[in-house]
Amino acid sequence: MKKQLVKSKEIDAIKFKKGELVAEVEELCGENLFGCYQCGTCSAGCPFIEDMDLGPDEVIRYVVLDRNEVLNSKTIWMCASCFTCAERCPRDLNITKIMEALRQIVLRKKIDHTKLVKISKKEIESIPQLAFVSLFRKNIG
Ligand code: SF4
Ligand code: SF4
Repeated sequence: MKKQLVKSKEIDAIKFKKGELVAEVEELCGENLFGCYQCGTCSAGCPFIEDMDLGPDEVIRYVVLDRNEVLNSKTIWMCASCFTCAERCPRDLNITKIMEALRQIVLRKKIDHTKLVKISKKEIESIPQLAFVSLFRKNIG
Protein backbone atom coordinates (compact mmCIF):
# COMPACT_ATOMS: atom_id res chain seq x y z
CA MET A 1 0.00 0.00 0.00
CA LYS A 2 1.42 3.36 -1.04
CA LYS A 3 1.94 5.82 1.78
CA GLN A 4 0.41 9.22 1.23
CA LEU A 5 0.71 11.54 4.15
CA VAL A 6 -1.75 14.35 4.61
CA LYS A 7 -1.01 17.66 6.22
CA SER A 8 -2.50 18.34 9.61
CA LYS A 9 -4.32 21.36 8.15
CA GLU A 10 -6.43 18.94 6.14
CA ILE A 11 -7.31 17.09 9.33
CA ASP A 12 -8.41 20.38 10.91
CA ALA A 13 -10.58 21.05 7.86
CA ILE A 14 -12.50 17.80 8.14
CA LYS A 15 -12.89 17.72 11.92
CA PHE A 16 -16.32 19.21 11.61
CA LYS A 17 -17.68 16.72 9.10
CA LYS A 18 -16.88 13.36 10.59
CA GLY A 19 -16.70 10.65 7.94
CA GLU A 20 -18.41 7.26 8.03
CA LEU A 21 -15.26 5.28 8.67
CA VAL A 22 -14.10 7.28 11.66
CA ALA A 23 -17.63 7.28 13.08
CA GLU A 24 -17.79 3.47 12.77
CA VAL A 25 -14.36 2.97 14.30
CA GLU A 26 -15.17 5.31 17.19
CA GLU A 27 -18.42 3.51 17.83
CA LEU A 28 -16.67 0.13 17.93
CA CYS A 29 -13.70 1.09 20.07
CA GLY A 30 -14.98 4.05 22.10
CA GLU A 31 -11.88 6.13 21.35
CA ASN A 32 -11.78 9.71 20.10
CA LEU A 33 -9.47 9.49 17.11
CA PHE A 34 -9.39 13.26 16.73
CA GLY A 35 -7.48 13.34 19.98
CA CYS A 36 -4.39 12.08 18.13
CA TYR A 37 -1.92 14.85 17.44
CA GLN A 38 0.35 12.72 15.26
CA CYS A 39 3.40 12.69 17.50
CA GLY A 40 4.48 9.27 16.18
CA THR A 41 5.22 7.80 19.62
CA CYS A 42 3.04 4.78 18.83
CA SER A 43 4.96 3.98 15.66
CA ALA A 44 8.33 4.59 17.31
CA GLY A 45 7.66 1.97 19.99
CA CYS A 46 5.77 -0.63 17.95
CA PRO A 47 7.74 -3.92 17.87
CA PHE A 48 6.21 -4.85 14.51
CA ILE A 49 6.71 -1.57 12.68
CA GLU A 50 9.21 -3.11 10.23
CA ASP A 51 6.52 -5.47 8.94
CA MET A 52 3.82 -2.83 8.60
CA ASP A 53 2.98 -0.83 5.49
CA LEU A 54 1.57 2.04 7.55
CA GLY A 55 2.66 3.10 11.01
CA PRO A 56 -0.06 3.12 13.68
CA ASP A 57 -0.05 6.95 13.57
CA GLU A 58 -0.64 6.81 9.82
CA VAL A 59 -3.48 4.33 10.29
CA ILE A 60 -5.17 6.82 12.58
CA ARG A 61 -4.63 9.61 10.11
CA TYR A 62 -6.18 7.59 7.29
CA VAL A 63 -9.21 6.78 9.43
CA VAL A 64 -9.68 10.39 10.48
CA LEU A 65 -9.55 11.36 6.81
CA ASP A 66 -12.18 8.69 6.07
CA ARG A 67 -9.87 6.92 3.66
CA ASN A 68 -11.18 3.40 3.29
CA GLU A 69 -8.00 2.08 1.70
CA VAL A 70 -6.68 1.74 5.24
CA LEU A 71 -8.87 -1.37 5.43
CA ASN A 72 -6.53 -2.98 2.88
CA SER A 73 -3.50 -2.18 4.99
CA LYS A 74 -1.25 -4.98 6.17
CA THR A 75 -0.75 -3.11 9.42
CA ILE A 76 -4.11 -3.89 10.97
CA TRP A 77 -3.30 -7.60 10.63
CA MET A 78 0.33 -7.30 11.69
CA CYS A 79 -0.67 -5.62 14.95
CA ALA A 80 -0.14 -8.15 17.73
CA SER A 81 -2.37 -6.32 20.24
CA CYS A 82 0.60 -5.90 22.57
CA PHE A 83 -0.68 -2.57 23.99
CA THR A 84 2.78 -0.93 23.84
CA CYS A 85 1.40 1.97 21.82
CA ALA A 86 -1.64 2.32 24.06
CA GLU A 87 0.63 2.51 27.11
CA ARG A 88 2.85 5.18 25.58
CA CYS A 89 0.38 7.43 23.80
CA PRO A 90 0.54 10.90 25.38
CA ARG A 91 -3.10 11.44 24.40
CA ASP A 92 -4.14 8.24 26.14
CA LEU A 93 -5.53 6.75 22.94
CA ASN A 94 -5.94 2.99 22.91
CA ILE A 95 -4.54 2.24 19.46
CA THR A 96 -4.80 -1.49 20.11
CA LYS A 97 -8.57 -1.12 20.32
CA ILE A 98 -8.59 1.00 17.18
CA MET A 99 -6.73 -1.74 15.27
CA GLU A 100 -9.21 -4.31 16.56
CA ALA A 101 -12.12 -2.12 15.43
CA LEU A 102 -10.62 -1.91 11.94
CA ARG A 103 -10.25 -5.69 11.80
CA GLN A 104 -13.86 -6.06 12.90
CA ILE A 105 -15.01 -3.79 10.09
CA VAL A 106 -13.15 -5.91 7.54
CA LEU A 107 -14.39 -9.18 9.03
CA ARG A 108 -17.97 -7.95 9.02
CA LYS A 109 -17.64 -7.58 5.27
CA LYS A 110 -16.84 -11.32 5.32
CA ILE A 111 -13.40 -10.86 3.77
CA ASP A 112 -11.07 -13.45 5.23
CA HIS A 113 -7.52 -12.16 5.48
CA THR A 114 -6.06 -15.63 5.77
CA LYS A 115 -6.61 -18.09 2.95
CA LEU A 116 -7.05 -21.40 4.73
CA VAL A 117 -6.59 -23.40 1.54
CA LYS A 118 -3.07 -22.04 1.25
CA ILE A 119 -1.93 -23.65 4.51
CA SER A 120 -0.08 -26.82 3.54
CA LYS A 121 -0.47 -30.19 5.27
CA LYS A 122 3.14 -29.93 6.42
CA GLU A 123 2.45 -26.55 8.04
CA ILE A 124 -0.68 -27.87 9.70
CA GLU A 125 1.38 -30.68 11.24
CA SER A 126 4.25 -28.47 12.40
CA ILE A 127 2.49 -25.30 13.63
CA PRO A 128 1.23 -25.42 17.27
CA GLN A 129 -2.56 -25.71 17.52
CA LEU A 130 -2.66 -22.68 19.76
CA ALA A 131 -1.22 -20.58 16.94
CA PHE A 132 -4.05 -21.72 14.67
CA VAL A 133 -6.70 -20.88 17.25
CA SER A 134 -5.16 -17.45 17.70
CA LEU A 135 -4.99 -16.95 13.94
CA PHE A 136 -8.60 -17.97 13.43
CA ARG A 137 -9.84 -15.68 16.18
CA LYS A 138 -8.00 -12.76 14.69
CA ASN A 139 -8.23 -13.25 10.95
CA ILE A 140 -11.25 -15.34 10.02
CA GLY A 141 -14.74 -13.90 9.72
S1 SF4 B 1 1.14 8.13 20.21
FE1 SF4 B 1 -1.02 8.76 20.38
S2 SF4 B 1 -1.04 10.94 19.86
FE2 SF4 B 1 0.95 10.13 19.19
S3 SF4 B 1 0.58 9.58 17.01
FE3 SF4 B 1 0.20 7.75 18.22
S4 SF4 B 1 -2.02 7.79 18.62
FE4 SF4 B 1 -1.43 9.83 17.98
S1 SF4 C 1 -0.66 -2.90 19.83
FE1 SF4 C 1 -0.23 -3.23 17.66
S2 SF4 C 1 0.23 -1.19 16.83
FE2 SF4 C 1 0.39 -1.07 19.07
S3 SF4 C 1 2.55 -1.39 19.52
FE3 SF4 C 1 1.54 -3.39 19.67
S4 SF4 C 1 1.72 -4.31 17.62
FE4 SF4 C 1 2.18 -2.12 17.42
